[in-house]
Formats: sequence, C-alpha cells, structure tokens
Amino acid sequence: MGQGTGSVELPGREGLRAVNTNSLGPTHRKTEEQHRREICTAGKWMYERGFIVACEGNISVRLDEGRILTTPTCMNKGMLEPHDLVVTSLEGRQLAGERKFSSEIAMHLLFYSMRPDVNAICHAHPPTATGFAAAGRALDQALLPEVIIGLGQIPLVRYATPGTPELSAALEPFVPHYDALLLANHGAVTCGPDLLTAFYRMETIEHFAKILLSAELAGDPVLLSSREVAKLMAARARYFVTPPPGGGAELPETSDSGDSSRDHVSLTRSELGALIDEAVRKDRARR
Ligand SMILES: [Zn+2]
Repeated sequence: MGQGTGSVELPGREGLRAVNTNSLGPTHRKTEEQHRREICTAGKWMYERGFIVACEGNISVRLDEGRILTTPTCMNKGMLEPHDLVVTSLEGRQLAGERKFSSEIAMHLLFYSMRPDVNAICHAHPPTATGFAAAGRALDQALLPEVIIGLGQIPLVRYATPGTPELSAALEPFVPHYDALLLANHGAVTCGPDLLTAFYRMETIEHFAKILLSAELAGDPVLLSSREVAKLMAARARYFVTPPPGGGAELPETSDSGDSSRDHVSLTRSELGALIDEAVRKDRARR
C-alpha cells in the first residue's frame, strides 16, 4: 500500500471513502469529522512506519474545551474507521462511541489539563527510540541541529505501570517543559498544537534514535558545543518554533558539558592530606 502519495489502493469503494485524506492538515481548526479522519490517517502512518504493532499506541485530539476524541483500546490503530473513535470528557468519562477508550488516556488528559497550547497527542512504541528507553537512556545529546531547534532534547521519564496514576505522576514534572518524552521500558509520547505536529515529533524521535545508534556504531558521536547549541536555540523563532510554555527545559548534553574547569581544583596528595587533617581537627575540637 502506498504512503504519503495522496492515492492509496484500497479494497473497495467504502474503504476509499473512509480513508480518502491520506494527509493531515497543519492547523487544528476542523470539523469533528475531519478530526476523526485525521486520527485514522495518523494511526495508519504510525502502523505503516512500524511505530506500533498489533493493538499498541493511541492518538487523541482536543475537540473543544470539554471533549477529547481518541482511539479505542484493543484495535489496530492502522486499521481504524472514523466511527471506531471514542469521545471522552477531560476527566476521562466516556461521552460517545461504542468502543472503550484505552487506559493510557490518562497520559493524554494530563497533557490537556496542564498545557492549554496542546491539541493533539501521539503515543507509540517506535522500536529504536524505545530501545534507548529500555536501556535507560534519554535522547539528550546535542547531535543534530533540527532536533535541537525543534525539541531541545527528549528526556527519559522513569518507569511506571502504563495507564496508572503512577505514570501520570512520573510524567507531570516534564509536561510543562517538553513536547516529546521517552517513557522508560515503554515507548514515547509527543504533543502538539495540532495532530500533524504531534505526529512529526514522534517521527523525529525515532529518526534521531536511529541516527544516534548509527553514529555510535560508526564511532564516537561528535556532540555540538554549548556555543553552537545556544546559536540554534536563538534561531528557533526564525523556524517558527514555539517552545513549551513552561520554559526551563534542560539543554542537551554538549561536547563541553562535562568541562566545568572553573569549578575544578587540583591538589597534590600532601595538600589533600593537610586539608583532611585540618577538617578532622576542627571536627574533634567541636565535640
Ligand atoms: Zn504504551
């Protein structure tokens, strides 16, 4: 089946009507029917690109102030029809749809409640990025200009059982400051002002993970310096990148991150011995 070409071979007329967009629009102002079709398209893309298999992953969009449209549980997200989707309240109460929503909706609702700028969420298990998450590694290296401009870095959220309040608690400190997160031993979650942006961010995470892995296989990845990172951060406005409203995101690790020479002192063995002796003497005198 073709992808991203605008025309898809589908088995019948009905299928053709159901998935006739094969694209996502760059803004969020759409009818509910358009949002339904776009979620099906994004699910298809995630499945075709191998970001999810079987019934994994979930996608949602904010329909209005009180309603979220989301994918159902126990269905392949690459084979959804618009009527399979479920509408919930911001508190996670089902408002419409015959199927049941995923327990992972709690993660989506956390973003919607903390981030008024967020209108769409993608959650998937892209294999290379999830490999880093399963190895306990964040994607926080200053390696690629596009990733630094677009996302800063992708931190690793500590493991908690999917779909539980513990996972929401682990995510909470990161949500105001980042648009893309790795979930330890689980996968990745991205958000955006619209579904296309959230999807692109998921693609970027996996692409970055693949390149980092290749760089590590090819040799030692050469990180950019903090000066280069500062230049890229300053260029964000030029690329129409709006950083998360919470600010305060940590910058990626640079070639000179460990170079805190101003904080380092060097001592000879005898100078160190004298310092220890003095500290011990002071401590004895205090008793
Ligand atoms: Zn998951």
